[in-house]
Amino acid sequence: MTPRVRFAPSPTGFFHVGSARTSLFNWLFARRHGGTFVLRIEDTDTERNRDEWRQGILDALTWLGLDWDEGPTLQSDNLGDHHAAVEALWEEGYLYACDCTREQIDARAAASGHPGYDGYCRTRELPRGPSTALRFRMPDEGTTTIEDLVRGAVTFPHEAIGDFVVMRPTGVVLYPLANLVDDRSARITHVIRGEDLLPTTPKQVLMWEALNHCAGQERVDLPVYAHLPMLVNEQRKKLSKRKDPVALESYRDQGYLPEAMVNYLALLGWSPPGGEIADRATLIGEFDLSAVSRSPAFFDVKKLTHLNGEYLRAMTSDAFARACRPWVSPGPETGRTGAPPPWAPNDFDADVFARAVPLVQTRVTTLSEVPAMVAFLFGDDVAYDEEAVAAVLANDPLGRVVLAVAIERFAEIDFTAASLHDALIEIGEGVGLSLRRAQAPVRVAVTGTRVGPPLFESLELLGRERTLARLRAALARVS
Ligand code: GLU
Repeated sequence: MTPRVRFAPSPTGFFHVGSARTSLFNWLFARRHGGTFVLRIEDTDTERNRDEWRQGILDALTWLGLDWDEGPTLQSDNLGDHHAAVEALWEEGYLYACDCTREQIDARAAASGHPGYDGYCRTRELPRGPSTALRFRMPDEGTTTIEDLVRGAVTFPHEAIGDFVVMRPTGVVLYPLANLVDDRSARITHVIRGEDLLPTTPKQVLMWEALNHCAGQERVDLPVYAHLPMLVNEQRKKLSKRKDPVALESYRDQGYLPEAMVNYLALLGWSPPGGEIADRATLIGEFDLSAVSRSPAFFDVKKLTHLNGEYLRAMTSDAFARACRPWVSPGPETGRTGAPPPWAPNDFDADVFARAVPLVQTRVTTLSEVPAMVAFLFGDDVAYDEEAVAAVLANDPLGRVVLAVAIERFAEIDFTAASLHDALIEIGEGVGLSLRRAQAPVRVAVTGTRVGPPLFESLELLGRERTLARLRAALARVS
């Protein structure tokens, strides 16, 4: 039997990196075993049911390159099945009506010292009505054991679970039942999801088995469960939506590559046997759900960034230049809506940028760093870092001498990186400065800052006329 797995996110406004990891592991499992990857959007919480949020899920999966074979189906399209399941369970006596209010339940729990629902309505045989919820009648004693592919056998004593609500008085069928009814209809064979859902699993197993005994319901085999380890931050605490950078979109917008992201996400709970750097085909070939660890996985942005740098450096120059386009030459067709680069669109020159690629490709870890590095090449308004100008020019007479001499020498030599380099060594020696110190005033005058790509190659790219004009303008500025 080929596996059928599903990714069943609820729209939340942004795509959590934990959801990204869950979707990836489902996708890898399906692709590894020739199975089917179903996308189901669990949109029954109407407050969270917004078109753009649903679209955000599709965009995130598309960006990651995780293609689905069926769907997207919407949970809200299956309300009829959810209610049919409620009726079937009711008919067979698995449910009972309960009119307890939250206050009554809490007051009794406080008085008895036992948290949770105490089964007050279990034997009252209340009729169903507009103010009754329906609760699942837990077996009186015993345990439910889940053979989890990641966590091994996990046993839940029934008395610790308590009779839980399946349908609210408003008629809303709650997530545990709706979710499993959809899994039954889709014939899901493996439920791969986050560990936060483990406590729901025994309830779902009991309801699944109950439905198998109900008239009018099909017998469907229980799926195999695999609960993926929690993602934690540097303090080993569960990732916080507010404090930790958990939105996948923010990584996309900062210029992380989807390939690097996929590779990094694969390491969250699993170790590819052939080494950590593994492309998509390797991940598919090696993926083994039973080798996933149960220990919490540290979501390490530094490691992700490092890996992204490795992926950027491994690209061909052409591919790198193409990947940079949304950052250096954004347009409707590049689909990026972040801050525009710091030059006027007409000042961009794709040929010059292509020649600058070797200078920047090895020096960035995300694509969003690229525009600042090449800004000096496009347009003639240099954005000066005033602190740098003061340090190496305004307050440094030797820096000004270097500029003055460079203006003379650079006008007459071959304008190549090698001769510029030799000329600046000589100019420095003339005033007793090392090459490193002699470079600083030239770099600041030409690019506005003290850091950037290698100087002499940058000057060669900029060309003699523009270089000389900037050296003169900077000298005039501080004289
Ligand atoms: N919709 C649920 C959630 O986003 C996931 C359900 C599941 O994977 O079983 O938390």
